[in-house]
Amino acid sequence: MELTRFFRENGRWMAEVRKRGRDVLRDALINKGSAFDDDERQALGLRGLLPERQATVDLQVQRVIEALARRNTDLGRYEELADLHDRNETLFFRVLLARLQDLMPIVYTPTVGEASLKYSQIFHRGRGRWITPKHRGHMADVLREVQGDIRLIVVTDNERILGLGDQGAGGMVIPIGKLALYTAAAGIHPSQTLPVSLDVGTDNKRLQEDPMYLGYRHPRLRGAEYDEVVEEFVHAVREAFPRALLQWEDFKKGNAIRLLDRYRKILPSFNDDIQGTAAVALAGMLAAGRACGRSPSQERVVILGAGAAGIGIANQIRAAMRRDGLGGDNLRSAIALLDSQGMLRGDREYADSYKLEYVWPMEFAAQKGLGSPDTLPDLHAVVAALEPTTLIGTSGVAGTFPEKVVREMARHVEAPAIFPYSNPTSKAEATPVDLMEWTEGRAYVATGSPFEPVAYGDDEIVRISQGNNVYIFPGVGLGALAVEASQVTDSMFTAAALRLVELVSDADLAVGALYPPLSQLREITHRIAIAVAEEAIREGVAVEPTDGVAEAVASWMWEPEYPEIRPT
Ligand code: NAD
Repeated sequence: MELTRFFRENGRWMAEVRKRGRDVLRDALINKGSAFDDDERQALGLRGLLPERQATVDLQVQRVIEALARRNTDLGRYEELADLHDRNETLFFRVLLARLQDLMPIVYTPTVGEASLKYSQIFHRGRGRWITPKHRGHMADVLREVQGDIRLIVVTDNERILGLGDQGAGGMVIPIGKLALYTAAAGIHPSQTLPVSLDVGTDNKRLQEDPMYLGYRHPRLRGAEYDEVVEEFVHAVREAFPRALLQWEDFKKGNAIRLLDRYRKILPSFNDDIQGTAAVALAGMLAAGRACGRSPSQERVVILGAGAAGIGIANQIRAAMRRDGLGGDNLRSAIALLDSQGMLRGDREYADSYKLEYVWPMEFAAQKGLGSPDTLPDLHAVVAALEPTTLIGTSGVAGTFPEKVVREMARHVEAPAIFPYSNPTSKAEATPVDLMEWTEGRAYVATGSPFEPVAYGDDEIVRISQGNNVYIFPGVGLGALAVEASQVTDSMFTAAALRLVELVSDADLAVGALYPPLSQLREITHRIAIAVAEEAIREGVAVEPTDGVAEAVASWMWEPEYPEIRPT
């Protein structure tokens, strides 16, 4: 028998609660802290456990904001918020929504990266589920111990945490942060979400040697042993939570692409690093195209970095070009990718099979002047030969869009779209200030990390958009859940991107912004979810809900209000 059961009645969230006394205050999903009224205090055995006065939720929000202001560092503010999250979820989400733009960099990147690095030092309380190889044979039981009607799981194996590599047990902060954004943006009720860390060991020497390290102390499992853990986990999810959607997060590129392919038809699942990034990049390209009158079939795209993000972006952009009528060799030559060695060209060996689709055959490269057998074309050579309209950076390496390359691009294109997407800020391929300078203010710029607006010329202030995946994944997840899609298809991501572009106003474009302001995130997510759900129905991976799509989506969107509690 569950100790707390959540359900919706007339649009309101209710909680049937069997707990009493301090156990109520320790349950973050039902705890209201000083906001419990006298009747609730009486019924739940809380008399005398709280100071006399009943606080309003607004007063509680104010108290948290003051507590955050007393902290001197972002990591301190992260810890303050993490404690609140573990103490009182409703209040946590009230605060997060009240200050979304300020707090998003704390609950997610960049501060979450620091929290990951120091995880074993700042650990207070476990959240979510760690699955380790010790749970082999029992993973379904471990998951069944989770209370609640879990519908959304974010899972990481901790190997590629942001740009920070293998963080072992500390990677858990990523699913936690991502799910916090889900609830903030899409209103998925926190009782329906579950962060999971597949802790299969770590090859991070620093962690292995740290006496305080809290994770599974073992070299990272690889090969068949690793695959067995993932396989059992996926089946355990299907058994314990048959209606759940699974989001793969921060897996290293080989596993990321492989696992997505293997499991996307077995259970509804997607990989935000690949597919979410792709949709947000496509939306950015389409918005820039809208601003300067370029259709997808008129774009020529160069992507620096042929990993999970770069390949995902290439797939989405190619699909958009195909829809716009491009085919055959024209389609093929419209996109070129480079990795750390140079252009993906037919005279190289490729260990990563996912790159093969974007390898240019030699005769083809030769037709474009990129066929010299002596040297593999670098970014400058590719830009000079192809005269791209859009240049995207997913290399993870700072400074890889140098002045010479950008000036070369700007010589051929009136309004170049340039997206240095690598994170964190220090890894950006170029800074917006430099890009504006080198293109005489003509570029449309979107970045991976947040950047300040750029002053250009006498009176022009250019807003720099952040190509943040948070524009996309909450709407995709919400749309898929609302219609119980059996799969999350690439077309659903395309639908999300197209809807996002519609939400960019002419006023946004006029100041150089390619995405709408993040302050509109809830509304954006709502609208994207509807487009995603409609696409799922069109594709036949979901059926039309009886009350219609808009109603189904709206009914999922929880506003952070304290539940009405029914003691049982
Ligand atoms: P990844 O490791 O899968 O891929 C990196 C790719 O870059 C590899 O193909 C590698 O060969 C290539 N590369 C490395 N050094 C290079 C160099 N000097 N020149 C050219 N190519 C080089 O990583 P990923 O998951 O694809 O992420 C890449 C970057 O994109 C990261 O910095 C990440 O933060 C960023 N990213 C941004 C967003 C976003 O802004 N929305 C989303 C996802 C990823």
